[in-house]
Amino acid sequence: MTGTAPDGGDCRPRPPISFELFPPRTDAAALALGSTIDRLADTGPSFMSVTFGAGGSSRDRSLTVLRHMLEHTRVEPMAHLTCVGSSHAEANRLVREFLDAGITSFLALRGDPPAGADPEAGLGDLQSAAELVQLIHRVQEEREPFGQAGIPGLPGATSIRERPRPERVAVAAFPTGHPRSRDLEQDIDTLLAKEVAGANLALTQLFWGADDYLGFIERARAGGVTMPILPGIMPVTTPARLARLVELTGVPAPSRLVRALEADADPDRQFATGVDHAARLAADVLDGGAPGLHLYTFNRHEAVLAVLDRLGLRTPAFAGIERNTRTP
Ligand code: FAD
Repeated sequence: MTGTAPDGGDCRPRPPISFELFPPRTDAAALALGSTIDRLADTGPSFMSVTFGAGGSSRDRSLTVLRHMLEHTRVEPMAHLTCVGSSHAEANRLVREFLDAGITSFLALRGDPPAGADPEAGLGDLQSAAELVQLIHRVQEEREPFGQAGIPGLPGATSIRERPRPERVAVAAFPTGHPRSRDLEQDIDTLLAKEVAGANLALTQLFWGADDYLGFIERARAGGVTMPILPGIMPVTTPARLARLVELTGVPAPSRLVRALEADADPDRQFATGVDHAARLAADVLDGGAPGLHLYTFNRHEAVLAVLDRLGLRTPAFAGIERNTRTP
C-alpha cells in the first residue's frame, strides 16, 4: 500500500484507478448516471469504461454515455465492444463508428452468444477477442494510414508523423478461469494471444481472494504475458446482488461473505460489509504488486468511493498506467 513520508505526506504515487459503468435503460437512470459520472470523475480516474450488450443491443446507449464523458469530463472513455455474431463488415462498421465519435480506448471482447442461440448458426466471422483486437488496429490504420502534424511557423504546411494508434486496447482476463475454458493454461494462452494481437492492457473478471489474482499474474508472467493486468474489484453490498454476480460470472463467492451479508438485513451494515471486503481485497492485491484497481461500480458511486476512502486513495492521481509498447 501507499507509504508515509517523514513529513506525513504520501511517499508513493497513487496507483491508477478506473471504473466500469453500464449504459442506463431509462431516462431516470440516465439522469442519476450523470451525477455518478461527475462524482467518479472528481477522483481523477485513468479511464472509465462502458459495457456493451452482446450483439450490439446497447450500442446507441453505450455511445451516448461515452460521448457524455468526452464532452463533460476530462476522463478518458473506454468502450467495451463485442464481436460475437457479427460479420466482418458489421464489426468493421462498429469500430469505425466509435472511432469517428472520438473514442480511442477499447475493451475488446468476444461476448457471449444469446442464451438458447442455435449452436449450428455459428459465432459470426470473428471467433475470439484476439481477432477483434486486430480489427480495431486495422480499422484505425485504414482510417488514418499516416498522421500529419502542422509545421510551426509555416501556416497550412504539414509533415508526416507516426500514425496515431488507439490509446488503449484492453482485453478481459479470468483469474479463476473462464467458465468455458478447459483449464487455466488455456486462459493464459488466450490472454497471450490477445497481447500478441495488439492488446496493451488486461482487466480481470471479478475474483474474491487476493491469491486468485496474484497466482494468475504469476502464471501469466511465466506464460509470457507482459501487459499490465488490472484487478477488477466490486464492492457487493446486498445478498441479492452477490447471488446475481455468482450466476453471471460463474465464480463462487466465499461463504464468509455470503454469511456476513445474509446475517444482517440492515442496509447500512450490509453496505459496510461489502465495502470492507472489497477494501481488504484491494489492499492485498496492491500490496502484492497490482498496477492499479479497476472498480466495478454497478452505476453507483457510494460504495466504490467508500472503498477508495478506506484505502486513502480518493485524491486524484496524475500518473497513468505504464503502457506496453509491444503493440504491432
Ligand atoms: P476470448 O478471449 O475470445 O475467450 C476467453 C476465454 O474463454 C478463453 O480462455 C477461451 O479459451 C475460452 N472460451 C471462449 N469460448 C469458448 C468455448 N466456446 N469453448 C471453450 N472455451 C471457450 N460481455 C459483454 O457482452 N459485454 C461487456 O461489456 C462485457 N464486459 C466484460 C468486461 C470484463 C472485464 C470481463 C472479464 C468480461 C466482460 N464480458 C462482457 C463478458 C465476456 O464477453 C465473456 O466472458 C465471454 O464469454 C468471453 O469473452 P472474451 O473476450 O474473454 O473471449
